[in-house]
Amino acid sequence: MHLRSKLPAVGTTIFTVMSKLAADVGAINLSQGFPDFDCDPALVDAVARHMREGRNQYAPMQGVPALRQAVAATLEALYGAAYDPDGEITITSGGTEAIFDAVAALVHSGDEAIVFEPCYDSYVPAIEVNGGRAVVVSLRYPDYRVPWDEVRAAISPRTRMIVLNSPHNPTATILSESDMTELTRIVDDSGVTILSDEVYEHIIFDGARHESMARYPALRAHSFIVGSFGKTYHVTGWKVGYVAAPAALSAEFRKVHQFVTFSTNTPVQHALAEFLADGRGYPGLSAFYQRKRDLFLALIEGSRWKPLLSRGTYFQLLDYSAITDETDMDFALRLTREHGVASIPTSAFLYTQTAPPVLRFCFAKKDETLESAATRLRDL
Ligand code: GLN
Repeated sequence: MHLRSKLPAVGTTIFTVMSKLAADVGAINLSQGFPDFDCDPALVDAVARHMREGRNQYAPMQGVPALRQAVAATLEALYGAAYDPDGEITITSGGTEAIFDAVAALVHSGDEAIVFEPCYDSYVPAIEVNGGRAVVVSLRYPDYRVPWDEVRAAISPRTRMIVLNSPHNPTATILSESDMTELTRIVDDSGVTILSDEVYEHIIFDGARHESMARYPALRAHSFIVGSFGKTYHVTGWKVGYVAAPAALSAEFRKVHQFVTFSTNTPVQHALAEFLADGRGYPGLSAFYQRKRDLFLALIEGSRWKPLLSRGTYFQLLDYSAITDETDMDFALRLTREHGVASIPTSAFLYTQTAPPVLRFCFAKKDETLESAATRLRDL
């Protein structure tokens, strides 16, 4: 049978490839971003309690009210943004679903969406499978700053959306206040919609402030903001996230969400609502991960790996140019097979640039995992 693929250039995601290879060869897995330690046992107890109490049927399509209220209260407390939990917050089955739904809701056939490479690997396929065209603006190694003049030049009458991500996966950079000023000018001039992937909002280092779109009324009015409980509560496998957006955008978003997943896991939403309403989890998260970042860096200090500054997320880019001139993919595979440490090559997030000599390592790991990995990395 001849199939005409809608995504001919897409294979299996790098996360699945590298995590499988790590498992097959018994490597330490610092590739796919997930903690190797457990969440708060009280959170598991809460899910079990809600299951035992019979909250096992479909949740409302928009999400459990208590969780939507807790999300709205958190956005208000952290960013001074008033979102209506009924009409402006939607609970999704993870950040990736939220990103897909937002794109599907807005991008018409032939529309353009601006993305910044390296970018998370679901953005471009989400745009293309919905008939859109991804217009790629390059963030360049080693600073990965947003080139705002290039962004302005990339805007056309067909531009429907700009996809932003801060703290940024995989570069671990963050948007600054002056970036937000530049973005505001562009949005004022073009009326373009923003898809803001803020799933690492609570993991930001060295005292920096997370520049959420929610802080800026002029940006908030045009934005889908995507959040994730997986990152915040160490439960990436539960696949629960949310979207905050003004009522008109949320209404279009829900038209898609209701036919993609309909609704999200009920007992998990109830448990997360309790934790979030109590302000648990996120307040200490930056300090928790900053300590892990610093431990990982201290452990590889003096080796031939050169760290780039990680300002947020739980990822660290390491420059390997003093070790080899292999491509990042070749080296990532060899590093996994021969040295027992799995990472992510940033070429998986690139579309137009040649990959720089860096690999992405996830430090959301037990100290002993980081110690074992560092011992292996130091040998190179
Ligand atoms: N966001 C995670 C990462 O960047 C992976 C998510 C996934 O595997 N789909 O590693």
